[in-house]
Amino acid sequence: MGSRRDVRILLVGDAGVGKTSLILSLVSEEFAEDVPSRAEEITIPADVTPEHVPTHIVDYSAQEQDENVLQEEILKASVICVVYSVTDEDSIQRLTMYWLPLLRASLGDEHRTPVILVGNKVDLADFPSLETILPIMNDFAEVETCVECSARTLKNISEVFYYAQKAVLHPTAPVYNPEEKELTPGCRKALTRIFRICDLDNDNILNDEEVNAFQQKCFNAPLHPQALEDVKAIVSRHTSEGICDDGISLKGFLFLHTLFIQKGRHETTWTVLRKFGYDDNLQLTKDFIAPRLQVGPGSTTELTHQGYSFLTNLFDKYDEDCDGCLNPTELQNLFSTCPIMPWGPDVNNTVCTNSEGWITLQGYLAQWTLTTLLDVPRTLEYLGHLGYHYHHETQLSAIQVTRDKKIDLEKRQTTRNVFRCHVLGSKNVGKTSLLQGLLSRNLRYVATLNKHLLSSFTMNTVQVYGQEKYLMLHEVDVAMCEMLTPTELDCDVACLVYDVTNPRSFEFCARMYLKHFIDSKIPTLIVACKAEHPEVRQDYEFTPAQFCSRYKLPPPQYFTCIDKVNWDVYVKLATMAAYPNLKRLVHMLLVHQKSLWLEEKFRHLKGLYTDENKVYIRLGIGLVALTGMGFAMYKILRALR
Ligand code: GDP
Ligand code: MG
Repeated sequence: MGSRRDVRILLVGDAGVGKTSLILSLVSEEFAEDVPSRAEEITIPADVTPEHVPTHIVDYSAQEQDENVLQEEILKASVICVVYSVTDEDSIQRLTMYWLPLLRASLGDEHRTPVILVGNKVDLADFPSLETILPIMNDFAEVETCVECSARTLKNISEVFYYAQKAVLHPTAPVYNPEEKELTPGCRKALTRIFRICDLDNDNILNDEEVNAFQQKCFNAPLHPQALEDVKAIVSRHTSEGICDDGISLKGFLFLHTLFIQKGRHETTWTVLRKFGYDDNLQLTKDFIAPRLQVGPGSTTELTHQGYSFLTNLFDKYDEDCDGCLNPTELQNLFSTCPIMPWGPDVNNTVCTNSEGWITLQGYLAQWTLTTLLDVPRTLEYLGHLGYHYHHETQLSAIQVTRDKKIDLEKRQTTRNVFRCHVLGSKNVGKTSLLQGLLSRNLRYVATLNKHLLSSFTMNTVQVYGQEKYLMLHEVDVAMCEMLTPTELDCDVACLVYDVTNPRSFEFCARMYLKHFIDSKIPTLIVACKAEHPEVRQDYEFTPAQFCSRYKLPPPQYFTCIDKVNWDVYVKLATMAAYPNLKRLVHMLLVHQKSLWLEEKFRHLKGLYTDENKVYIRLGIGLVALTGMGFAMYKILRALR
């Protein structure tokens, strides 16, 4: 709450009701007979106000200020005290005849600036004025409260200003509807979300332990056991089903907050709401759902152990039948604290499910891993909605930003756990089946899936030298002659797919390789799909095997998924992604003849000068290294052509 702006209290009302006297009595703690017509603006420093916010008190005098100034002050005020004199009938009449309508005219009919009716000179009154005032409160919802006081005897003077401050800091309008005498829908919704987050075992009851954890979180202290019993007694006396199995039900929880507000203890409800990230409009604050995270170029985002463990606990909490997957209802419940259900049916074809298409724990974690990789702000936002803060300081602890990949390559090691593989190939060569195979789905199963719901991503874990890594497959839709965009090239391993039964399909792979990957640091694997069929001769100058050996690629990897899925291909892809230097390393040891090295550089240049289109990329480093000999090489190239 410390981040709140200042509180600005404006006093208005007819001349002579005692506005200036009220202010001066507050400040000097004694009544002055002679006061100026208008008090100077006073600022009370944060540390001496009850709610610890700087507070300005502003007087108004019709004698000194015209209507425009009044209008301006009304707009600037965070709370307005309309003062009347309890002994002056006229000043009471003018509340509804003049002042409240004037405020509405200035601020709009539905305005949210709280108003407090202040009846001064109560020392002169024989009976209280509240009887005439209460109906006004009912007619004007913006009136938060009314209070009687005396500048002369100092009665209730500090209360006036305290209520004013409270009305700003803990406003009623967003949380409570005084006409209906119930919580607003927004407040119900927020408290329901809070209840669900605090109901750790998901039995729809806050047991004593859960209540205490909640108290600790919101008020930094557990509830005294007796106090807890008293609270439960009150709830059970006033609401049927408010208490179930000796715990507080959602109904009871909502009732308690209604009671707090009705008793004028708004701050209790507001403290809870603010702890759970709500602003004055009952929206989650930006800090809460969108904390800033720096992700440099070459870095990726992964979930940390804390992130996975929070998400796993959440899964277990909502997997009510403990069958290791979330059925549609369980999934709906899991996301019930979020504004919308973020996962559509395509998720079921992106990660592992059971045979009914329900997401498994493995699939669920893979989906979060994918979201974190591709759209980390979304992960942060949903962690906020799902209550990550209830267990951790900030959701940033759920995210690991990996170091720049360049450093990984230099150091020849990586701490990454998530790798991206882009799958390319011409139409119908079997890319989608390859993607679905990562979810252990064979062709028969894939044939039953709705084609429109198939995703161009799949994600699963793969063992790499005994360690579990995540491999993402992404089907990149690209025609043979098209250039790949930098994003389409941004992957840890490339998978070029052809169809052993289609003689024209390998050419695509060869061209893609020569155009995009030959000079890149991205390891490349050529995959021969539909390998249950005999291989036909490809219409290309080299066979796939020749091509691979010529360009020092691993030999083509045969893949079939008609019944059983060849899992090897995924292990190979993940391994190549995790250890991109391995190939190079082996090469440096085996092939250190200068000629070959030259040939490689030569090719590099050739690509650069023959294909104008592609000068735009990634050759920066290579160019610097070659500037010394570039010209000579260029001449050789010309001579050869
Ligand atoms: P303003 O025009 O609203 O600022 O009113 P003032 O503060 O100038 O007060 C008008 C008159 O009411 C002065 O004579 C004050 O002394 C008197 N007055 C203000 N407050 C009280 C009060 O609480 N009790 C009594 N008996 N007189 C008051
Ligand atoms: Mg005055």
